[in-house]
Amino acid sequence: MKRFSERSKTRLAFASVLGLAILAMPAQGHAQDADAAEAADAVDERHVWDLTAFYPTKEAWEAELERLRGEVDTLDAYQGRLENDAATLLAALDASSAFNREMTRLWTYASNQRNTNLGDPAGQEMVGRLQALWQAAGAEQSFMLPEIVAIGEERIESFIAEEDGLQKHAHGLRNTLRQGEHTLSPETEQVMTLMSTALSASQNARDLLANAEIDWPRITLSTGEEAHLTPSGYTLHRQAANREDRIAVFDAFWGTWREYESTLGATLNGEVQANVATATARNYDNTLQYFLSGDNIPEAVYRTLVQVTNDRIDVLHRYFALRARMLEIEDLGYHDIYPAMVETDLTFPIDETRDHVLASMDVLGPEFSQQFAEVSQERWMHVFPQAGKRSGAYMSGAAYDVHPLILLNHLDDYNSASTYAHEWGHGMHQVLTNENQPYELADFSIFTTEIAAIAQEILLQEHMLEQAETEDERLYYLGYALEQMRGTFYRQVMFSEFELAIHEAVERGEALTGARMTEIYGEILRRYHGHDEGVMEITEREMIEWAYIPHFYFNFYVYQYATSIAGAAYFVEQLNTGGDEARETYLNFLRAGGSDYPLEILRDAGLDMTTAAPYNAVIDRMDSVMDEIEAILDARGD
Ligand SMILES: [Zn+2]
Repeated sequence: MKRFSERSKTRLAFASVLGLAILAMPAQGHAQDADAAEAADAVDERHVWDLTAFYPTKEAWEAELERLRGEVDTLDAYQGRLENDAATLLAALDASSAFNREMTRLWTYASNQRNTNLGDPAGQEMVGRLQALWQAAGAEQSFMLPEIVAIGEERIESFIAEEDGLQKHAHGLRNTLRQGEHTLSPETEQVMTLMSTALSASQNARDLLANAEIDWPRITLSTGEEAHLTPSGYTLHRQAANREDRIAVFDAFWGTWREYESTLGATLNGEVQANVATATARNYDNTLQYFLSGDNIPEAVYRTLVQVTNDRIDVLHRYFALRARMLEIEDLGYHDIYPAMVETDLTFPIDETRDHVLASMDVLGPEFSQQFAEVSQERWMHVFPQAGKRSGAYMSGAAYDVHPLILLNHLDDYNSASTYAHEWGHGMHQVLTNENQPYELADFSIFTTEIAAIAQEILLQEHMLEQAETEDERLYYLGYALEQMRGTFYRQVMFSEFELAIHEAVERGEALTGARMTEIYGEILRRYHGHDEGVMEITEREMIEWAYIPHFYFNFYVYQYATSIAGAAYFVEQLNTGGDEARETYLNFLRAGGSDYPLEILRDAGLDMTTAAPYNAVIDRMDSVMDEIEAILDARGD
């Protein structure tokens, strides 16, 4: 199962710093770890995105870049004057917004172009030039946050009351005031901005090594087929029906990662050190608090999630026991996690995938369906794998004035279909947001948009279950649902625990090497998989898995998968039972975009994420899916 992923916006995020948040770059978008395979044959142009709506040519992109470069020096024009009056504040924020808006468009074009051909130095170069400009622009505007904080709440509120134009900036202004105590002096803010590229060097090194330089092993499967175990080859072959093949895949793939344990330990340590240093410089109690503060999420959400999950780890162990029963395996191992518990020869070519997803949207109303029917025919997607293409899938929606882009690596299996639904969940969230919010309030949080994405996946599952023609088909989709709850809930909480553990180790002053990370990860992996209880054997081999997970560079990001599937399950239940009112509530949640803090937007839609209830709800759902599967198996005498 895929579904950890999504690239964080955190370090790169706008959220915490107004629409003027030039201090940060937009991320690639919302990604997944699925993957690129090799080589594409001739591809239907309908399935390759058309970037000409962004810029008709690369020359036009260059020209716009040069124009903005010429404007950088004017960005500090309002320095020292923000406190003058509401009109001056508005002019400064609008100027900043306008600059940022164009930069984002440049970035979206360059980074997405690069991502379809990572080996092409021209793409890297475009992104590099933009990073340099972004950094310069950030430095020019670093006066804004401290000035706003210095003006203070009372005066800012009176400006907002008196100047209508400030309405669209109000949430950002209040958010900046909220984080005021963590805003440093103008000189220090400037230093932080200048350091930002250096602080992301570890992640860049890791990405290059993993995506372009490691020489992935080739093995011959029992079928005689040669398997090239790139990360995408791994995700394909780890689900092999033949157990010996899976074992061979695991031996070769994890063996290769193990060769880089020290190097990847050094890059991840570099990332953690950068995070801890930044959190300390900004006067946070700890790194977790720092990264959650951008979205105004209390630490308790994270810690409650981990606690509830550990309290109910037996439900995950029940799932592994059921898996062992269905696969007829006595000595379940980590290599037995991925094969489908029920074989299926169903395929999901891209056009049929779209039809299924469209059909699954009935509950969202005719207007929503119609809109999806239209936009999904546009050339907004890069659908198939090709050499050098970034792995996984994501939606890139930061270019407010153009349209979202969706990168997939579609392989015609159900997982790819579900990924399609997921990314279009993000895509439609962006479309509805852009229709209903100004640019300044369109940058929704990962915390909310993941709920929209996973809800779309659950709707697809329900649709497929409804139209399933055989018991085996039903079992397939139920098994898939279970696996999604393992992969999106339990596995992500496990990652969250590891991420917290390595940051806390550095906060305590401990040395963090690759070997030490393997040790920490191994303990957590064994606990979640019931190694000591004899549920599943975890060996030394797979304890290197942390090295393979890019998300540990995404700043306390993955816990949101777990909170998201909880939120998604809640909303789908509401949609199924609540009629027109529930539908309108849900659509309003999508339309709200980034107009408030995520927890507030969800609270307005009736969902309180600070309690244990949503997490218990997902776990309960997992239990009931298992009841359903076991009932079918028992009736059959399997
Ligand atoms: Zn997503």
